[in-house]
Amino acid sequence: YTGKTDSPALSDEIQKIKVHHYQSRPVIVEQSTSVYEAICTMFLEDCGTLFIVDKQTTLVGVVSRKDLLRASMGGQAIETTPVSIIMTRMPNITMCEKEDSIIEVAHKLISRQIDGLPIVKKVDVGSGYEVVGRITKTNMTSLLVDLAKNEGT
Ligand code: ADP
Repeated sequence: YTGKTDSPALSDEIQKIKVHHYQSRPVIVEQSTSVYEAICTMFLEDCGTLFIVDKQTTLVGVVSRKDLLRASMGGQAIETTPVSIIMTRMPNITMCEKEDSIIEVAHKLISRQIDGLPIVKKVDVGSGYEVVGRITKTNMTSLLVDLAKNEGT
């Protein structure tokens, strides 16, 4: 399926959808949190990506399921290893803002081959970002379901 359609209406409709229409609550942990605690948080919160912040709640990294699996296999003491050792760190974090178009985010998820992005807001002082939300492949699936529901109406 090429995704090509004779009606421009659907693609116009999609272009108008913003990130904040489909966002989820972010799951955030502080960078000194142990790998063990991060795994517990991931299970309790039922999420696949954790956003890592410093003491000022500025975004410093991202930890995924496989990052935690890798750390657990390495024979390190996961109770004492902080997540800051294993996280993907700034400035290598792919982010978006709540007014960005959802399709722009979908492109980022596909091109970077990642499951989700933090939705961020620039902090008033300094150069950092505050995490205000999360957008994932699951949110994209909800969007697809909504589009199918509205089809022909
Ligand atoms: P997993 O492979 O664990 O199912 P992902 O595909 O999301 O999860 O993550 C793959 C790798 O990309 C991991 O090392 C993770 O730290 C990193 N990663 C995840 N999300 C982001 C992001 N938004 N920006 C940069 N790197 C990310």
